[in-house]
Formats: sequence, C-alpha cells, structure tokens
Amino acid sequence: MDNALRLQYLEAMGIDVWLPRASVHSEQPLSPEIPIDNAEPETPASANDDWDILQAEVANCTRCGLCTTRTQTVFGAGNKQADWMLVGEAPGQHEDEQGLPFVGNAGLLLTEMLRAIGLNREEVFITNILKCRPPNNRDPHADEVERCNDYLQRQMRLVQPKIILALGRIAAQTLLKTDEPLSRLRGKAHTFNNTPVVVLYHPAYLLRSLPEKRKAWQDLIQAIQTVKNNKG
Ligand code: URA
Repeated sequence: MDNALRLQYLEAMGIDVWLPRASVHSEQPLSPEIPIDNAEPETPASANDDWDILQAEVANCTRCGLCTTRTQTVFGAGNKQADWMLVGEAPGQHEDEQGLPFVGNAGLLLTEMLRAIGLNREEVFITNILKCRPPNNRDPHADEVERCNDYLQRQMRLVQPKIILALGRIAAQTLLKTDEPLSRLRGKAHTFNNTPVVVLYHPAYLLRSLPEKRKAWQDLIQAIQTVKNNKG
C-alpha cells in the first residue's frame, strides 16, 4: 500500500499516525469431517525440533475441533531469530483467509505501533495463542488453548526472543497463567520462562477505545526500556 493511501486509511479509521522517534531505540534499530486427534498435546523439547517440522505439524494439526472450521492454520510470521516476539489471541477472518497473523485493521494498527518504535513487521515475530480461527471470533476455549500451547512454547524456544509482547487479555492471561484483568497486568514486569513479558492492550481494543492509545504508547516505552535494561 502506498504511504499516502495508508495515511488516508488510518485517518479514516480515526487513528493518529505515530511517527518513528529515532531516539527511543538503542544502537540496533528496534528498529468432509476431519477426525480430531485426542492424543496428549505436549511434544517434548527435542534438539531435532526445527522450524520446518513445527510449521508442518501446525499446518496439519487436528488437536482440537477448530481444525474442522478453519480455512487454514496461521502459524505466525516474521523473523525467526527476532528479539521481539508478539503474541496475540487468535486469527480472525482475514488471518484465516490469508494464513498470516494480524492482517486486518487491528494488524494495520499493530504495524503502526511497531513503526512508532522504529520496528517493522519483518524484524519481529508475530504469532497467536491459537493457530486457528475460532468460529465468529469467539473467545478461545480452555481446551483449545491447552492443546495449542505446545506450539507456542516450541516457537518461543526456537526464536528465543529478548522480549515478549502479550497483546490483549487472552494472550496475557494465558502466558502469565492468571485470571487478573488486563488493567492490573499492564505496566508491570512479568516473565515467561525467564523472558520478560510486557502486556499491551490488544490493537483491536485500541481501535474501539482510542483514548487508551496513550497507555499503549507507555506500554511500548516500557518494552523498549525492558530490552535496554536486559542488554546487561
Ligand atoms: N487478532 C489477534 O489476536 N490475532 C490476529 O492474528 C488477528 C487479530
């Protein structure tokens, strides 16, 4: 999409455009019916586990009922060795159609948020708690989250990010194994398997609640600071 069109599009959505601030980042640019497999979802960590194997497993997954309603799985996209890993909730309609995460309006805002801190989508890794779209975008069910969890864990072991951004309540509560509301989780330091986690409002929520964008900016600053502090 050309830049002028992109700006017009964002303006039409009522979104202010956040411009990159060169100073906020450090030396590096931050810049017919399918049978459901009821087998134990946990796959042990293995030295042989690699990206292609994992991707093929996800593409053919039948661990839960969502395999009967999805168009395709959405594995995730971006840099396999990213310092920043972003975890959303689950694919929506556009993601299900295209096989890529965050490609709808929420994705457009997410891209802008990344640009605002000098990052582009290609240098981060973006994925979701669930790799398949829940029908009508309903909240993920606990058993779906549990069966899909192993894929996310393996993605994290392979990427080894320096920071994880949990996008929205479902991602935050799942990663942090808590029922606390998002308002109490954001702004605090968390970890997931020793990797720092920063909790952000989901971009889809920010599209509906524009006044919260200021808080989202604070959360991004917190994330930048966390990465800087962990450089040692
Ligand atoms: N919302 C999400 O949580 N993930 C996506 O990939 C798209 C919308």
